[in-house]
Amino acid sequence: MKEEERRHKLFEQVQKLKGNIRVMCRIKPPADKSSDALIKFNPRVSELDEDKIDGLTIPTEREDFRMPGKMIAGEPKDFNFERVFDDNCTNKDVFDEISQLVQSVMDGKKVCIFCYGQTGSGKTYTMSRKEDGIIPRTQDMIFSEVDRLKVLGWEYTVEGSYLEVYQDKLYDLLASRSAKPEPLTVDPISEELNIKGHSFTLLKEERDLDEMVRTADNNRHTAATAMNDRSSRSHSILVLKIRGVKKNEDGEIIRTRKGTLNLIDLAGSESPDKARGEQIYREGVEINSSLSYLRTVLSRLGQGKTEGVDFRSYTLTQLLRPSLGKGCRTLMFVMVSPLKENENETIRSLEFAKDAQKVKMGGNGGAAKSKK
Ligand code: ADP
Ligand code: MG
Repeated sequence: MKEEERRHKLFEQVQKLKGNIRVMCRIKPPADKSSDALIKFNPRVSELDEDKIDGLTIPTEREDFRMPGKMIAGEPKDFNFERVFDDNCTNKDVFDEISQLVQSVMDGKKVCIFCYGQTGSGKTYTMSRKEDGIIPRTQDMIFSEVDRLKVLGWEYTVEGSYLEVYQDKLYDLLASRSAKPEPLTVDPISEELNIKGHSFTLLKEERDLDEMVRTADNNRHTAATAMNDRSSRSHSILVLKIRGVKKNEDGEIIRTRKGTLNLIDLAGSESPDKARGEQIYREGVEINSSLSYLRTVLSRLGQGKTEGVDFRSYTLTQLLRPSLGKGCRTLMFVMVSPLKENENETIRSLEFAKDAQKVKMGGNGGAAKSKK
C-alpha cells in the first residue's frame, strides 16, 4: 500500500510539473562547514524519496516594533522545489536528475536549461567542462545516443554554436579574440534560430563538440581577464541543433526529428552595487532588467498571452524565442550561496525561482505566434 501511495503522489507531481517551468535549487558547499556564519536552510526531505530534499525553510528576523533595536523571529521563508541539491550532492547527481530531459532532445524536443544566481554561487561549476558539469556529460550522452539510434535506423546530425550576450549584444564565443568582435543579430522571424552572417558548426563526433567548448571557454576566460571578470556579467549560451532522419529501404525520408538544446549560464543576478564603480553598476542594472524581462516573457507565455511580449526587447529573449513557448521544456537551476553575508541575495534568488516555478508553459503562446 505504501508503494501504491508513493506511486500516486509521484503521478500527481508529474502532472503538476507537466507544462510548468521546472525549478531545482543547488546550495554551494561552504568552505568551512563548522562556521556559524552560515544560513540556516532547514532542508525538508521529499515525501517521494527519502534520499532527496525538495524544500527549505529559512528563519527570518524582524525588529520588534515595541522595542526598537530588538530583533525577534519573523515569518519563516518557505520554498518548495522539484529538487534541492545540498552540499552532499555532486555534478553527477545533478546530471542523473536531468539526463532524461537532455535525452528528450533526441526525440525532437526543445529544451532550455538555465543556471541562475549571484556571482560565485556555482553556476559555471554546475555547467562547466572543467568540473565535469552538465556540458561534458551532455556531450557524452548525445553522441552515445547518436550511435545507439543509428542501430535503429536513425541518422543524426548535430550542429552547435557558443554565444555570449554582453551588455545586450550578441557575440560569437568561437570568433577570434584578436580583432574587436562585431556584435551579431538574430533573425527575428525565422521558426528556428538563425543568426545573420553566422553559421552553426557541424559537429561530426564528440571530439568536435569538445573542441568547440574548449575554444569558447578559452575565449571567455581571456575576455574575463581583460575586463574585470566579464564572464560573470554576460550570459553564455551553448546551442545544439540536433536533427534525426529515418529512411526507408528506397532511401526516402520517412520520419524526421528536430530538437534544440540551450544550455544557459546567466550573468550574476546580484543587485547592482555603486561601490564597484560606475561601469559595473550600469552593467548590473542592465543585467537585472534583462533577467526580469526574461521572467516577464516566461510568465506571459505561461498565460498563453503573446500581446505585450516583444522578444526583441532584449537579445537574450530574441535568442531563446524559437525554443520557448508551446511544447518546449524549461528547467531553471537556482544557485545559492550558504553564507550568512549573502543571505539577502540568496533569498532574492529563491524568490525569483519561486515565481518562475509558477509559470505554466505551453498555452497558446510561443514562438510561432510571436511573429509580427
Ligand atoms: P558563478 O559561475 O555562479 O559565478 P562559480 O561556478 O564560478 O560561480 O563558483 C565560484 C567558486 O565556487 C568556484 O571556485 C567554484 O569552483 C566553487 N564552487 C561552486 N560550486 C561548487 C560546488 N558545488 N562544489 C565545490 N566547489 C564549488
Ligand atoms: Mg560563472
